[in-house]
Amino acid sequence: MDQHPITKAIRTRIDTTNEMEHSSPLFLTSSFCFDNSEEMRAAFADENDDNIYSRFSNPNVKEFTDRMCALEGAEAGYATASGMSAIFASFMTFLKKGDHLVSCNAIFGSTHTIITKYLPQYGIEYTYVPAGEPEQWEAAIRPNTKMIYLETPTNPGLDIIDLDFAGKLARKHDLILNVDNCFATPVNQRPIDFGADLVVHSATKWIDGQGRVLGGVIVGKEELIHNIYLFCRSTGPALSPFNAWILSRSLETLDVRMERHASNALYLAQHLENHPKISWLKYPYLPSHPQHDIAKKQMQNGGGIICFELKGGLESGRKFLDNLSLLSMTANLGDSRSIASHPASTTHAKLSQAERLAVNITPGLIRISVGLEHRDDILKDILKTLDSIS
Ligand SMILES: *Cc1c(COP(=O)(O)O)cnc(C)c1O
Repeated sequence: MDQHPITKAIRTRIDTTNEMEHSSPLFLTSSFCFDNSEEMRAAFADENDDNIYSRFSNPNVKEFTDRMCALEGAEAGYATASGMSAIFASFMTFLKKGDHLVSCNAIFGSTHTIITKYLPQYGIEYTYVPAGEPEQWEAAIRPNTKMIYLETPTNPGLDIIDLDFAGKLARKHDLILNVDNCFATPVNQRPIDFGADLVVHSATKWIDGQGRVLGGVIVGKEELIHNIYLFCRSTGPALSPFNAWILSRSLETLDVRMERHASNALYLAQHLENHPKISWLKYPYLPSHPQHDIAKKQMQNGGGIICFELKGGLESGRKFLDNLSLLSMTANLGDSRSIASHPASTTHAKLSQAERLAVNITPGLIRISVGLEHRDDILKDILKTLDSIS
């Protein structure tokens, strides 16, 4: 019987010889034993994900990866110690000296550092294109372009990139389309359905959902993932079995959690959009969002992040953080507890004002990662805080 991806993800589990446990046991082991030398020789010769050594593969890591593949509709996957190691491996496996990468300009800060600082050290060129102007994407493609990289929704500006457009562009020019799906998660958006070849995640965020462990994962076409596997097997960004065990349990509740994160976020967005202290508010499922139609086409809901601009600018942004009572001030997102951040004075403080504006980080921009607390308590804290600032 054909199962829904959510059922498949919840029901996928590792084989254990002991059928007693209903929940998967934890395999805290660095390596695995063989019965004889021939079996061990064959496992090494295979270069597939046999359990040999936990840098290559581990049952808990495989369970997490298989569940992610079920949710994303992917053929294969490899899990890593963090989102950044997943993104780095997805670049380094396929890009070599003389190659060119086209990336949307609004991307996660450390990804920006890899693209602008480290890839050029290996002779890999890049062109940034604005998320909101798809016409510029095709113009940026050169004969040596190998990959298109994008995030949607973007962080922290929540721009939406048309995945169908990006998939068709990649096919037309025979490029690898690599999508960071961290903000949406696979229960909300499946880039592979629109033509993505690779999907990367920071599992640290919504997938864990409780701010406990770091993790990352890459899923996609079998042949591409096999090359990523060989790269990672030698370079060592493996996910720890314990973190994989945590993340695999988390996937069983991802769908129900994301529904509530999104309904809470929509409620806040609707109640704050016209607040007198706010000049604009963005949420993909509000009709006022500039790419609302695309969001409706490719996302099941608007996701768990809202962002808005305070009329009072930089000083109001800092005061807003200081005056919150319920919401946490912390460098994470995708937690059951709501989190507020002010990028201009924190994550992006080292950039010049002009550099910040180029990636849409305005002085009074506040990003809220909407948690699972009762929606009226979150709203009350934000309204009280808005009242307290100029
Ligand atoms: C956090 C994040 C990453 C990096 O993931 P880590 O697990 O922190 O290494 C990458 N992309 C996006 C969109 C993120 O939010």
